This record gives sequence, C-alpha cells and structure tokens, in this order.
Amino acid sequence: VPAVQFLDVMKNYGNVVALNDIRLSIGRGEFLTLLGPSGSGKTTLLNMISGMVTPTSGQILIDGQDVTRVPPRERGLGMVFQNYALMPHMTVFDNVAFPLRIRKVNRQDIERRVMAALEIVRLTGFAERKPKELSGGQQQRVSIARCLVYEPRLVLMDEPLGALDKKLRIQLQFEIKKIHDELGVTIIYVTHDQEEAMAMSDRICVMNHARIEQVGTPRDLYFRP
Ligand code: ADP
Ligand code: ADP
Repeated sequence: VPAVQFLDVMKNYGNVVALNDIRLSIGRGEFLTLLGPSGSGKTTLLNMISGMVTPTSGQILIDGQDVTRVPPRERGLGMVFQNYALMPHMTVFDNVAFPLRIRKVNRQDIERRVMAALEIVRLTGFAERKPKELSGGQQQRVSIARCLVYEPRLVLMDEPLGALDKKLRIQLQFEIKKIHDELGVTIIYVTHDQEEAMAMSDRICVMNHARIEQVGTPRDLYFRP
C-alpha cells in the first residue's frame, strides 16, 4: 500500500481552481518534492494530506485509508513550516516535548525521546535555551526535532528552509536528507527552489497552474539527452 494516494482530486476556492486532476501515488519511505511557482497549488496539496484542506472532489488515502476517516492523532504525521512556529517563552526542551505532553506521555519517556530527537538535529547542548537565543538554522532544527519526537511515519515540510540564507539552506538540506535516509520516514517536501529539489528528492512532482505537469526522478526530469 502506498503511503499517500491522491485519486482524481480537485480543489476550488469559489471560482479559483487551486488543484485540478491530481492523481499521485507516494511510496513508503520516499522523499517526494512538490516543486512549482507561487500559486501553483503546492501548499494546498500538502495541506490536504494533513486534512487541513478538504478536497472539492476526489479522495486522499493515507496508508490506504481515506484521510477523513483516520483521526488526526492516528495519521502518524509530523509537520515543519517555514516560520518554525516555536513557542518563544518555552525552552528548546519544552518546545520539543510539547507534542508528547499533550499526549500525556510519561516523564521518563519524554526525557528520553526529546534528548534522542535533539541528538538527531545536533542540539543536545541547547536544551535549556530559549528560541530567541538561537540562530535561524538552529531554530528550524528545533522545529524538526519537535516534528520527529512523535516518531511520525509521514513528514510534511512546507518551504522549511525558505527563511534561511543560502549557506545554511545547503547545510540543512544535507541534514534533512540524512534524517530521511537514517529514519526511513516518508517525506513530502514543498519548495520553489529547483536546485533544492534536485539535491534532496527521490522524485520531483512539478506543479504548474493547479496541475501536476510531470513526475519523475531528478535524472528523469533534468538530464534528458
Ligand atoms: P505559499 O506561496 O508559500 O504557499 P501563500 O502566501 O501563497 O504561501 O499562501 C499561504 C496560505 O495563505 C495558503 O496556504 C492559503 O491557505 C492562504 N491563501 C493563499 N492565497 C489565498 C487567497 N487568495 N485567499 C485566501 N487565502 C489564501
Ligand atoms: P503554492 O503553495 O504553490 O504557492 P497555494 O496552494 O498556496 O499555492 O495556492 C494555489 C491557489 O489557490 C492560488 O491561486 C491561491 O491564491 C489559492 N488559494 C490557496 N488557499 C486559498 C484560500 N484559503 N482561499 C482562497 N484561495 C486560496
């Protein structure tokens, strides 16, 4: 069973067609990037997987089940956004622990899982800092740790590196790719940066004007003779 399937999905906002004729199957453990210009429908497509946006017609399946029939907490989702969305008054530890605390995980397990997540993003020494004492790249690594702490099967990332300068972007690209390879999670990644898509993806889904224009490996799409 694929991790995610879009079956003839369409989305309208009034008379704006945000997505049309979307058929897409995403494999388990795949790193799939949605690449396209602003307004092409990338975020709408991503937000349908989390159930934040519902289709006008068609169906989205996660692990073979209609997304609307799976309660949010059972979808195995982790999300990372461009603006980090960290809570400024909480320490790094408490930010990462947050998804576990609202699920009433016990204290020892929280301690163990938060420190493991911080180790993955190489921030163990920063557990007691506040977000504002960290660089942009470090803040985004905290939000990646917060996403990983619940051991998601499926990670959705919407322009996670969009607010960072070029050097940090490239560094974080490698780190995210490494996390993907080591944890074996499925990642669906949104960007408008072609080089980023090329560097990270197993497959790229090129979007334009509410449609999928083509889907293929970076080689398929850009190295045709
Ligand atoms: P991005 O290009 O990074 O997706 P946008 O600024 O286009 O970001 O949109 C951010 C969010 O704002 C979208 O995901 C959507 O929910 C909302 N949005 C975008 N366009 C409109 C619109 N025309 N009217 C209302 N909300 C919108
Ligand atoms: P992208 O992520 O590629 O920038 P979006 O998915 O944000 O594209 O938007 C696709 C289209 O849908 C755009 O024309 C945008 O203005 C429109 N749109 C997105 N969200 C909303 C919304 N909540 N209300 C109205 N229009 C929206």
